[in-house]
Amino acid sequence: MNSFSNLYPYNPMKHPICPRCQTEKVIKSGVVQDRQRYHCKKCKYYFTVNKLGKQIDNYYVIKALQLYIEGVSYREIERILGVSHVSVMNWVKKYRITAPENTEYRPTYKVFNHKELIEHLQESTNTKGAGMLITELGDKFMLIKWERFKE
Ligand SMILES: [Zn+2]
Repeated sequence: MNSFSNLYPYNPMKHPICPRCQTEKVIKSGVVQDRQRYHCKKCKYYFTVNKLGKQIDNYYVIKALQLYIEGVSYREIERILGVSHVSVMNWVKKYRITAPENTEYRPTYKVFNHKELIEHLQESTNTKGAGMLITELGDKFMLIKWERFKE
């Protein structure tokens, strides 16, 4: 499998790739049964976003499960990764993931490009009093923060 960042832009639902030839050269081509249909200009293949959803890379599965364990809700995961919350629920079931109970703190997250990430981390106050995790997300970075040492 090819490396994620070359293949996928940040949100696969907003910028679909052709499931057959993997190119991003796709154009909208009407709506079929409430699903957006796309046409690949390279290989001439037609597909809908739901079909594309089934092609989801394990990269997204792992990221989604990571977020789930960290206490991010299904809806939030959907928003962050652009994969449906139903898919995430299915993966949680499939891999038998149980998130440890956590009522102490809630994670917050932000998506940065590389420059913004460096600027954010350069400010020392942004790195104090919190746990954080940086994860690569397409051509961007997601910083998840837990303000665990707060009152
Ligand atoms: Zn194609």
